[in-house]
Amino acid sequence: MWKEPLQFVNGRFADGTGTGEVIVIDPSTGAELAKGPAADAADVDAAVAAAGAAFRGWSRATPGERSGLMLAWARELERIRDDLAAVESRQAGKPIRLTMNFDVPGVIDNVSFFAGAARNLEGKAAGEYSPEHTSTIRREPIGVIGSIAPWNYPLQMAAWKILPAVAAGNTIVLKPAELTPLTSLMFAEAATRAGIPDGVINVVTGSGRGAGQALVTHPDVSMVSFTGSTPVGQAIAATVPGKRLHLELGGKAPFVVFDDADLEAAAQGAVAAALINTGQDCTAATRAYVQRPLYEKFLDRVATIMSAVTLGPTGDHDTDLGPLISWTQQHRVAAMVDRARDDGARIVCGATIPGDDLDAGSYYAPTLIADARQDSEIVQQEVFGPVLVALPFDSDDDGLALANDTVYGLAASAWTKDIYRAGRAARDIQAGCVWINDHIPIISEMPHGGYKASGYGKDMSTYSLDEYTNIKHVMTDITAEAHKPWHRMVFTNTM
Ligand code: NAP
Ligand code: MG
Repeated sequence: MWKEPLQFVNGRFADGTGTGEVIVIDPSTGAELAKGPAADAADVDAAVAAAGAAFRGWSRATPGERSGLMLAWARELERIRDDLAAVESRQAGKPIRLTMNFDVPGVIDNVSFFAGAARNLEGKAAGEYSPEHTSTIRREPIGVIGSIAPWNYPLQMAAWKILPAVAAGNTIVLKPAELTPLTSLMFAEAATRAGIPDGVINVVTGSGRGAGQALVTHPDVSMVSFTGSTPVGQAIAATVPGKRLHLELGGKAPFVVFDDADLEAAAQGAVAAALINTGQDCTAATRAYVQRPLYEKFLDRVATIMSAVTLGPTGDHDTDLGPLISWTQQHRVAAMVDRARDDGARIVCGATIPGDDLDAGSYYAPTLIADARQDSEIVQQEVFGPVLVALPFDSDDDGLALANDTVYGLAASAWTKDIYRAGRAARDIQAGCVWINDHIPIISEMPHGGYKASGYGKDMSTYSLDEYTNIKHVMTDITAEAHKPWHRMVFTNTM
């Protein structure tokens, strides 16, 4: 199915020179989609050199020039949108309905947004903060960015890493997850076809420990931007002391339902937010805290809706839920659910590996778990599967305290018709995003990023441009005096 080599360096596809192999598998069938040599340190070197050579020209292009090329890129992506949706669906095991309606249009909108944002880089006011000088602010690109992305939203994560970096005038080398490199390669190639100069966007495909480590530790990489799990992010941070870092890490989003909430809206919202992308979403609803009067009704209704979800082939427009990314992930999820059950939690529905037609894929049934211990693994650790855990709470303060009781702080939601409760939840929940009476929607204009162990720095929105620029103060003397009054604090010059 995939015909090109798996590296994209300096505007061209190329084979890696590593001894390792990258094999891309469709997790819904086990079919092999692509195979090729992995990138090793020499390939990373070539990509960083290409990005370094492109930096001068790209960083000095006017914002208008960069913006024009990015708009052409958006049009090119529009032209190949069906191919992008099909490849993303197959390599990541996503239902085609999701890639056509969420991943691909979202990314095209991201490109258009950053084309506009590229023209909007500004500093705060310039002026005479000392009577003898005019101060101005320059916002400057940083250099070559080394980015590492995860497998759960391969195309969107490539876009979130690449777009603010290049809009601000940096050049980039991206290492996508080894399991899902294909749409990142298509995204970079589309940029080249749109006229973005060779070397501005490079993609190296290989393992995290090989190509990934070589990239982040490369001396000519000025900044590392990483999206992935908290342990890997922390490990990378330890290997690049002193380097500028942007970390988007794991999440364990709470979903807090107060006793005045619209129960049907909360139940529908919980199923959608727990099952999107088969639960392999860092902002997915994972912990539903439901105030006691609604608790059993919520469990009933969520179980009913979950049980009606259709698992099936990812290319089928009627399929709701695709497989997990791999058999490894399937076994991991199943083992975590088994341990929760052994620990005394109640399985309300699911907790099975579906057989029959789905045998060849790494599927897992939508699962609702009740009454787990707050300090248990299933409540505290990322599952990254179609698994929602529900727990009851009594007072509002208890509900919000339980919501905050994890190391993570990426996203959360609160469900209530009471504007005062909504306001307190928005204030008290420690997370980079709090939805009120919804959970999941994202938009290009608004930032995405974590609190606590979910990382720091923002993706999307104009806030992300702050991550990828340095701020320089330029202070210019306007007196033309050789003997400046302040010199007399240092020396009495009689010469
Ligand atoms: P992961 O295991 O942390 O891997 C992420 C990336 O890091 C992959 O490309 C991986 O390479 C690479 N990597 C691994 N070790 C490395 C090292 N020593 N040096 C450099 N790179 C290294 O995460 P994942 O399993 O792909 O994705 C799931 C995780 O991502 C979840 O924790 C999820 O919450 C998080 N996530 C966070 C956000 C957010 O915005 N905060 C968004 C999406 C996902 P290979 O796997 O190719 O070897
Ligand atoms: Mg991993």
